[in-house]
Amino acid sequence: MTAPNFGTFFLPGPTEVRPEILAAMTRPMISHRSPEFEALYAHCDEGLRRVFRTTRPVYMSSSSGTGMMEAAIRNAPAGPILSLVNGAFSERFADIARACGRTVQVLEVPYGDVVPLESVETALRARRFAAVTAAHSETSTGAAQDVQAIAELAHANGAFSLIDSVSGMGGMPVETDAWSLDFVLTGSQKALALPPGLAFACVSERFLAAAREAPGRGRYFDIAEFAQYASKRQTPNTPAVSLFYALEAQVTAIGPTGIECRWARHAAMSSLTHAWVEHQRQDGRLAGILAPAGSRSATVTVVRTPVGVDARRVVDEVARRGLTLGSGYGKLAATTFRIGHMGDHTVETVTRLLDVLGPVLAAQ
Ligand SMILES: *Cc1c(COP(=O)(O)O)cnc(C)c1O
Repeated sequence: MTAPNFGTFFLPGPTEVRPEILAAMTRPMISHRSPEFEALYAHCDEGLRRVFRTTRPVYMSSSSGTGMMEAAIRNAPAGPILSLVNGAFSERFADIARACGRTVQVLEVPYGDVVPLESVETALRARRFAAVTAAHSETSTGAAQDVQAIAELAHANGAFSLIDSVSGMGGMPVETDAWSLDFVLTGSQKALALPPGLAFACVSERFLAAAREAPGRGRYFDIAEFAQYASKRQTPNTPAVSLFYALEAQVTAIGPTGIECRWARHAAMSSLTHAWVEHQRQDGRLAGILAPAGSRSATVTVVRTPVGVDARRVVDEVARRGLTLGSGYGKLAATTFRIGHMGDHTVETVTRLLDVLGPVLAAQ
């Protein structure tokens, strides 16, 4: 599936894009109010429904993932928001809610951890919230949260679940319908291995009904407007047509039954990475994985370097050998680096990376 020159770029977003996908973007422009675009839209929507595991429409926004995070907040009914914060991106969700004028209660744990479900339940019982925000795969720490359980707790307590699966969707199981997620969003440039610039979201019928009444939801991210145009297989505004070509090529490549294979491939890449890091830890070359076992993302592993080893130097040394790793995010920059084993990477490309990384660590 992958070209021979594929497999050098392990940033946890944007991820490496296959040449075939890049080539698909060179097709000529079409009118976004034409039958050609409507057919393109329909193919993208059908393909994304299989990725999201939903029978509902998937809305496509010409924005980065953050746009759909803002949409989740703006379209949620009036009332306070409970934000589960365990890293930089879940913190951003809380920040967006504040910036949209919401009252936000934060439930925070140290970076790397996941928010205990008992704490979520206690917080939800103590006060009536309009919605709960959570990151499925927290890309800054590599922690994965049980968003099915979080959504159940939200529902049981009368709140909507707003789930950021930007680095989860396409690489880890997400069952939008079976888990009754009210608003689940992703971006094009993570596990879906598309160029940056598109964001996708699926909303429950209940959420959509509430959104239609939500005050101050603005225009660009008005979900009711997305829904209205989706019924015509169009977008409210001029879409990034070239990126839709790339999206169509990728969902066609995933195919009608490919999503489970994609999840399995990511599980294999993450298991390989975790076992390798554990081996390096035993040899004293790494301090281990930041996220606890049992709560680790299948798409990104955040690795702690031993005391005295600057993680930024590891990233630089690997770059000198032609491969790109992710630096530690924000305050974790000196002590961690990130391996993005997601998108169209394979066990083979990850193995090649680890074969380069091993000697670099040994030299530190
Ligand atoms: C990358 C990422 C985002 C932000 O996406 P942008 O496309 O940069 O706006 C949000 N949440 C998570 C978990 C991410 O990994």
